[in-house]
Amino acid sequence: MFNNKENFKREFKQRLVGKTGRQVHEVTEDDVYAALGSMIRERIGQDWAATNRAYIEQSERQVYYFSMEFLMGRLLGNNLLNLGVLEMVREGLGELGWDLEDIEEYEADAGLGNGGLGRLAACFLDSLASLGYAGHGNGIRYKYGLFEQKIIDGHQVELPDYWLQKGNVWEVRRGDKKVNVQFWGHVEAKEENGRLVYETKNGENVWAVPYDVPVVGYENASVNTLRLWSAESAADPSKGFGGPGGSYYNFLDYKRSVETVSEFLYPDDSQYEGKLLRLKQEYFLCSAGVHSVLRTFDKLRLPYDRLAEKVAIHINDTHPTLVIPELMRVLMDEKGFGWDEAWSIVTRTVSYTNHTILSEALETWPEQMVRELLPRVHMIIEELNKRFCAMLLEEYPDDQDRVSRMAIIESGFVKMAHLAIYGSHSVNGVAALHTDILKKREMKDFYELYPERFNNKTNGITHRRWLMHANPELADVIEEAIGSEWKTQPQQLTELLKYADDAVVQQKIYSVKRKNKERLASYIYKKHGVSVDTNSIFDVQIKRLHAYKRQLLNALHIMDLYNRIKENPSLEITPRTFIFGAKAAPGYYMAKQIIKLINNIANTVNNDPDTKDLLKVFFLENYSVSLAEKIIPASDLSEQISTAGKEASGTGNMKLMMNGALTIGTLDGANVEMYESLGDEGMYLFGLRVEDVEKYYRDGGYSAQAIYNSDERVKKVLDQLVQPGPFCQNGQTFDPIYHSLLSHNDEYFVLRDFASYVETQNQIGMDYRDSKKWLEKSIVNIAHSGRFAGDRTINEYASEIWGIKPAGAGSRSGIYKGQ
Ligand SMILES: *Cc1c(COP(=O)(O)O)cnc(C)c1O
Repeated sequence: MFNNKENFKREFKQRLVGKTGRQVHEVTEDDVYAALGSMIRERIGQDWAATNRAYIEQSERQVYYFSMEFLMGRLLGNNLLNLGVLEMVREGLGELGWDLEDIEEYEADAGLGNGGLGRLAACFLDSLASLGYAGHGNGIRYKYGLFEQKIIDGHQVELPDYWLQKGNVWEVRRGDKKVNVQFWGHVEAKEENGRLVYETKNGENVWAVPYDVPVVGYENASVNTLRLWSAESAADPSKGFGGPGGSYYNFLDYKRSVETVSEFLYPDDSQYEGKLLRLKQEYFLCSAGVHSVLRTFDKLRLPYDRLAEKVAIHINDTHPTLVIPELMRVLMDEKGFGWDEAWSIVTRTVSYTNHTILSEALETWPEQMVRELLPRVHMIIEELNKRFCAMLLEEYPDDQDRVSRMAIIESGFVKMAHLAIYGSHSVNGVAALHTDILKKREMKDFYELYPERFNNKTNGITHRRWLMHANPELADVIEEAIGSEWKTQPQQLTELLKYADDAVVQQKIYSVKRKNKERLASYIYKKHGVSVDTNSIFDVQIKRLHAYKRQLLNALHIMDLYNRIKENPSLEITPRTFIFGAKAAPGYYMAKQIIKLINNIANTVNNDPDTKDLLKVFFLENYSVSLAEKIIPASDLSEQISTAGKEASGTGNMKLMMNGALTIGTLDGANVEMYESLGDEGMYLFGLRVEDVEKYYRDGGYSAQAIYNSDERVKKVLDQLVQPGPFCQNGQTFDPIYHSLLSHNDEYFVLRDFASYVETQNQIGMDYRDSKKWLEKSIVNIAHSGRFAGDRTINEYASEIWGIKPAGAGSRSGIYKGQ
């Protein structure tokens, strides 16, 4: 394998020609990507095999992170970075006439997730491998990832994301490790050696086939595994396939039914959809994952009652909760354990992260659906519920209400969060405030019963992707100032505090931001044909479109700015470029209306001669990991403006902070902890606090109409939503938005926070003009962002939840560095 630039070039050219059967000067950039990708994948293979061998030999506990979503993004650049060959490859390719950054664009962005939850899983995998922990991902290889968003006439249009079209150089199909997963059928019980043994008959059998993707640690020779399951038909048609009367056409129906299981990712973020196919997907992941975990455990030749010593299964939100009854089923029906022993193994193995307190996101499945699709699993959940309720009655004999509130099955629905808490030894929230709300309000009953299970793990992001790879020039400036320790110990970024008012460092940070803004400006010019003033404030809100995230508040502020400039064309304001990126769930009507509104605003503001030199608005289509990597390094201002108490943590806030953007935000999610480090000097807070919001929900007393009546600016922008004018073009009005604010009394307090938001934004506009002061704050933000590195989060999970230490698979010899 190559170990210097010349070797790399020679080997690469050979492969390129070998792979394509063309001369080097005839190949396309697609070919270059494919050849480079497969070459790097093979390079990883050596370390991958060694890591797996080391894990078995060391026989330490391994973690399996079960998640329905892994929002990985592109892997080439990050793998090169973590392997320590990025510079060598960049230079080598350059000498052969290709630009690595261009080549990276040929990789499909693996969008197997909706947003924050899926991206968190991806960041965690990077930290697990980079810290040398034996921790692997377990998910679904959706044939279609999150839809591709097009904006047509200002509206969102969804296209299928067939990300596998050109193949996937990183994955390895492991046909030999396929697992049978069963749906439907009926349960038969028979007596064997004095105990009842259950078996499901006449089910629909599906092969779960694993595709393994290597997860490369940062310069440590550790390579973990992301195992993604694909559904394939199991039956040989000549033998029938789980039902009577097998015929060829019958087989085709069956095949189609099976393959839909891993066909597509549900595009709903923070929104529960009780669809049968989704339940099938969840069980498919859990059943396949459990079997594969047990097979790996088998290599240790230990009895199953020692499973929890060697295996930790972590469930990312409630979506993989069926792991709990499925592991019970396998231990009892396949491995011969009795109930109590099996339950003890399960609860010592499983831990759970709660991601939301939004009631519309809490999973509850109709019991009837579970009973029919998963008859044996349903029996187990029923028994779990019976035992849990009996225990509760003993604990709270005079509180039948509490028992019903806490039951796992209630009024014909299975409550997944209750099952997850009951079956786990640890339950964590994702930011201090969120965990607090879980304990005090949402999961109060459970906290009182199991106080020792609840803990906080504030989210984090990988500084390797989001700083070192997305913003290499900033990384260089940091390294010049404080050395490179922060690359393996991101909390060391606080060393930068010493340079916050250093004129030289400030100047360098300024010119990096400048270059990044120019790059983004040229991207925008390519997409929109509109030029951008790079002196303006790049004011960025990028995240899923959701009412609670309040993109609407941002939009109303722009409308108000427009109105103020129109009323007084000589108004002194600091020029701004508002940048939005957001996908709306396809069935989320209000969210799609807001996208259209933002695009209408853009149309007017960008073209009006009075405003176009002061304000620009862009809705960048298809927000994704790779688009985030372009926008974030160029951002000046980060919009984190959710209604207090609604955003569990947020991670976009951390990525932007790490890249030197200042935050305008509410005291919500991890913003609270950012504020702990930054104070009023480093961060712009506004709006209601959680207590205020809770009080309104509890006692009433909020009137959106009263604000409309008393605040002229509010009245004007709201009227502009429904009257012909600058924002209702071609007669289309935004009545549903208007009514959500006025007739439905503004559930998310957009109008209540409007004045405070506008005032804060005015202050920001003024502060931006003092660029020395602004740069100082920017550096302070970068310096405090190490606390939000995923490495810190994963070290906490490892020591406080999983009880694991770094396995230390090996260390790369220095030969790859700096050549
Ligand atoms: C980080 C990230 C998110 C999460 O953003 P929030 O602002 O925390 O909601 C969503 N989507 C993508 C592509 C991301 O990279």
